[in-house]
Amino acid sequence: MDKLLKGIMKYRCNVKEQMVKQFLQVKDNPTPKAVFFTCIDSRMIPTRFTQTNVGDMFVVRNAGNIIPHSQHFMDELTTNEPAALELGCVVNDIRHIIVCGHSDCKAINLLYKLQDSEFASQDNRRISPLRAWLCTHALSSLEKFQQLEVTDYTKPLVFQAETPLRKFVAYIDPDNKFNLEDKLSQINTLQQLQNIASYGFLKKRLEKHELHIHALWFDIYTGEIYYFSRGAKRFVLVEEDSFEKLLQEVKKYYS
Ligand SMILES: [Zn+2]
Repeated sequence: MDKLLKGIMKYRCNVKEQMVKQFLQVKDNPTPKAVFFTCIDSRMIPTRFTQTNVGDMFVVRNAGNIIPHSQHFMDELTTNEPAALELGCVVNDIRHIIVCGHSDCKAINLLYKLQDSEFASQDNRRISPLRAWLCTHALSSLEKFQQLEVTDYTKPLVFQAETPLRKFVAYIDPDNKFNLEDKLSQINTLQQLQNIASYGFLKKRLEKHELHIHALWFDIYTGEIYYFSRGAKRFVLVEEDSFEKLLQEVKKYYS
């Protein structure tokens, strides 16, 4: 806690004045551009690696950047993630939702281990809210991973996006750069697009192409960020060589 208190003092000296100016600038007319779902991992600092600022994004975080599928709820108002979607996309009319996964995700590493039935047993779930959360909301990602496993990690997977008819194909880590848990993390990130689209209160916006869902993936040990390109059917490194093409794709399909 002393680190935090010292940090607050540093913020007062170096950052506060500038931030208050930014608060005043957006005060009467904040126009956030994205609802950004990511993991609670302490290494993930989305406003830093996207260089976004006051008023730019709603950020929602949980273990494993999971948006529970609406099938888990009697109605759609029973948990944080759909409430955040409503606040962002309906109340504030935000038109872009981003799900950002990352490498070496401790929640996803645990999800990978949950393939072991003893590890995932009812008794173990009872003593571990994290296991229970993953078993309830992330097994669809694990099932997709197992589909990939039987093809020796080479065949593409099919995911559903904004509507049941808007499916997309994804080659997961075709250069085989990442370990199995990271492949699962990429699959889990893409699986959330379907989960987001399961909410009835977003249906019209999604059908009319007024609301778009994107996937990003952050490689913690290199600091590189990948954008899932539906054109390229894979996560593409966002860098000088790919930037213009990605920008065109985003403008063409999602503006
Ligand atoms: Zn994580």
